[in-house]
Amino acid sequence: MIRNKLAALILCFVSVTALHAEEGMFPISSIDRLGLSEKGMQLTATQVFNPSETCLVDGICRVNGCTGSFVSKSGLIITNHHCAYRAIQSASTSENDWLKNGFFSKSQEEEIPAPGYVVRITESYRDVSAEVLAAADDSMSAADRSKALAKRRKELEKKAEEENEGMRADIAEMFAGKQYVLFLYTYIRDVRLVFAPPSSVGNFGGAVDNWEWPRHTGDFSFMRAYVAPDGSMADYDKANVPYQPKRHIQVSPAGANEGDFVFLLGYPGRTARHKTASFLEYEQNVRLPYVVDLYQWQIAAMDSMSKNDRGVALKHSSRKQSLANVEKRSRGQLKGLRRANIVAKRRALEAELQNFIESDPTRKQKYGSILQDIDTTYAELAETAKFNLTMSNLVSACRGLGLAYTIYDAAVEREKSDLDREAVYMDRNFERTVDRAVLGWKDWHKETDMKMLAEMKRRLRKVGTANSVDSVKQFLDDDSFGDESFANTKFTDEAYIRTLFSKTSEELKSVDDPFLKAVIGLYPEYAKLRERGKEVDGTLGRLYGELIDVKQEFQKTSFVPDANGTLRMTYGNVKGYSPEDAVYKSPATTLRGVIEKTTGEEPFITPDRIRELYEKGDFGNFLHPKLNQIPVALLYNTDTTGGNSGSPILNNRGELVGVNFDRAFEATINDFAWNESYSRSIGVDIRYVLWITGQVYQSQRLLDEMGIR
Ligand code: ASP
Repeated sequence: MIRNKLAALILCFVSVTALHAEEGMFPISSIDRLGLSEKGMQLTATQVFNPSETCLVDGICRVNGCTGSFVSKSGLIITNHHCAYRAIQSASTSENDWLKNGFFSKSQEEEIPAPGYVVRITESYRDVSAEVLAAADDSMSAADRSKALAKRRKELEKKAEEENEGMRADIAEMFAGKQYVLFLYTYIRDVRLVFAPPSSVGNFGGAVDNWEWPRHTGDFSFMRAYVAPDGSMADYDKANVPYQPKRHIQVSPAGANEGDFVFLLGYPGRTARHKTASFLEYEQNVRLPYVVDLYQWQIAAMDSMSKNDRGVALKHSSRKQSLANVEKRSRGQLKGLRRANIVAKRRALEAELQNFIESDPTRKQKYGSILQDIDTTYAELAETAKFNLTMSNLVSACRGLGLAYTIYDAAVEREKSDLDREAVYMDRNFERTVDRAVLGWKDWHKETDMKMLAEMKRRLRKVGTANSVDSVKQFLDDDSFGDESFANTKFTDEAYIRTLFSKTSEELKSVDDPFLKAVIGLYPEYAKLRERGKEVDGTLGRLYGELIDVKQEFQKTSFVPDANGTLRMTYGNVKGYSPEDAVYKSPATTLRGVIEKTTGEEPFITPDRIRELYEKGDFGNFLHPKLNQIPVALLYNTDTTGGNSGSPILNNRGELVGVNFDRAFEATINDFAWNESYSRSIGVDIRYVLWITGQVYQSQRLLDEMGIR
């Protein structure tokens, strides 16, 4: 497909004049302005990205919330173990435990479906800011404004999909209330698992080592994209054939060493660098401490339920892993916010900005109260946060309630016209929403859910507001909704759950299920919370739009948009750092460290075969030239966040030398503020990947496919 010629004209907000060389998750249209050849890059900007010809970014894909790279012409994708985790878990049973033992298909026939996975490839994009913003006007209330913008976005996405059959369209907000870009994606729905090392490799160090350096985790896996024999996009079918990407990324077995220039392409999820100090205060004082406290409790609850039962542990594993990931990241962010004094620094910048605003009467008239208005909005949010957060966590912690909520919400929303529905219930998304709900339900564990419900009720009772909202009070006082409800629920089999998704809201009211009844009672309150959320979005969207304008005037520069799940590039060097006084950490770990860390106890178990090969010194061609060991992980000073998991680490020729999977503890704060002294990303070295795949688990077929001798 020919890319939209307008592509190069958009994203003109990005200018690099005042940027630190290394900071920034740059939209791909702006990389020609980065002066990368001076930094060691051997590819031209158009070899990396060219809107009208095949280029490096054609080899990059999004794998659900992660990134992947096509590493062969037959749709082979390399990404992280933790990105394929859900696929490995859902195929594992206590008898056939691929999570524990690894999954090694010997041929394409043995590759197994990864339900719920989709792969996207960015095909084109165009700036649709004017079309989106034309939907709102100044007379609108904040909530109406937010709804009008959302509806226009949905309308444009739908139209783009109708005009481009089989593609997905997504409008991303680049700057709140200011800039919107419509991205078109090739959208592959048949994704299969090809190879996953055992968790003892792919998740070596577990939660203990997560977000830490030095690191010794082989966090990689291989998947493959499939399409119908005629090349069209199709759901899983045995007859489907491997997808042929326009371009794939060449793997370089030479890896990368200290000092080398590297760059990453990927789909970073969310950052908040353009938000105000009051937002950061809200995060620091309200949301992050709440998350840490609740998730710690939930993780401990799941641990105690799974202690002596591998089947139960498997059901919990994916959920537990993602809660633990967020919990530890949140702790890192809390620590980082305080240590680097980030709120105070941002306040100081805002004071300068306010002075600038007030130095000119016209400016003062236009922008004088923006910062104050934003502060007020966050202060209001903070006041109701405990209640709001506990209500939303009630339906995510207790999965019975969560499923009932999705079923009932879907029924209510689907009675509206397609464009007026919440996006997940629009015709173009609904099938996937149902599939996701059903898939998640497979891991339901009654006893854990009972425990979660009891605890969430206890927490909700402690929030003053809950007792003054009738429907919530009724729910809390209703003793008949408790442990026995779990025995009476009819959410037992997939087919039944699917039939509920086809009922009207009226019909659901007469379904005799305790979860549904409880949710229907609470629903008006949830509807109010959603409405309030839209009001806040509308208010902040307008204010942030204006804030960016005046900041631009003040700083006489443009800004790189915050991460928003769209394709970006970041670059840097393989480089160590000094996280605290008198401590220097070098940027490469080796197999020796894996062996040294191995205790034989979770999460530090190492498979016998690795230990045997290590003893024998059987390292193939993958030794590090200086360290004389197999290199395992790499540290580099790029600008990454969640969603960059699975991003290729590329050398100056655009060859893949590793796979990004994490950040150092100090760098969890990247989401709010990046800094060269502490921002470090972590990836698995390709030499470890190749050694584990080819030598340890004998999957030479994959090395052959990648063209590795
Ligand atoms: N391991 C991280 C995550 O998936 C990747 C990152 O945030 O840098 O959340």
